[in-house]
Amino acid sequence: MSESAPALAQASEPSGGARSPGEHARIWALLERVSDPEIPVISLLDLGVVRDLRWSGAAWQVVITPTYSGCPAMTQMADDIVAVLAAEQLPVEVSTQLAPAWSTDWISPQGRQKLRDYGIAPPAALSAPLASVTGEAGAPAARVLRFMPRTGASPAVACPRCGSQETVETSHFGSTACKALYRCLSCREPFEYFKPY
Ligand SMILES: [Zn+2]
Repeated sequence: MSESAPALAQASEPSGGARSPGEHARIWALLERVSDPEIPVISLLDLGVVRDLRWSGAAWQVVITPTYSGCPAMTQMADDIVAVLAAEQLPVEVSTQLAPAWSTDWISPQGRQKLRDYGIAPPAALSAPLASVTGEAGAPAARVLRFMPRTGASPAVACPRCGSQETVETSHFGSTACKALYRCLSCREPFEYFKPY
């Protein structure tokens, strides 16, 4: 793809180590420090927003997928990535990839734990075959999904504080549209639930 890459790397990095796998790992470690503008406790890596990191021959290309289309935080995410890498003298370009669309399923197990520690219930997995839960063999997945919310069959949202599954939704929208407000019936604390999508 980039025939000029070896020449460029040689010219700018006489030591020969900068465009090595070691630098790739170093950049991942730097990206780990870039947090989600809306939920600062989790990083963009935890969120699953960073899709790719590759050397183009002139700069490191960071490919990110917005958490939802038109997400206003995306510009800030890109700016933050550029700022963190530029501070380390690393040339960087951030590009956006819209397909496949981001899903809460992409949040890492580590990210889910961080959400819980922060007091936000992490989203339930969407990739689980819901049709098998309801036993409606042959029902189109979209149809099953449409009927899943707000029924007794929907998976209980565990309280992030005490772990109790005795919880109720008090408002479908929390501080942001992507979260719902819940209350725990065991410890009585309200909490936010990161809705799966
Ligand atoms: Zn509780």
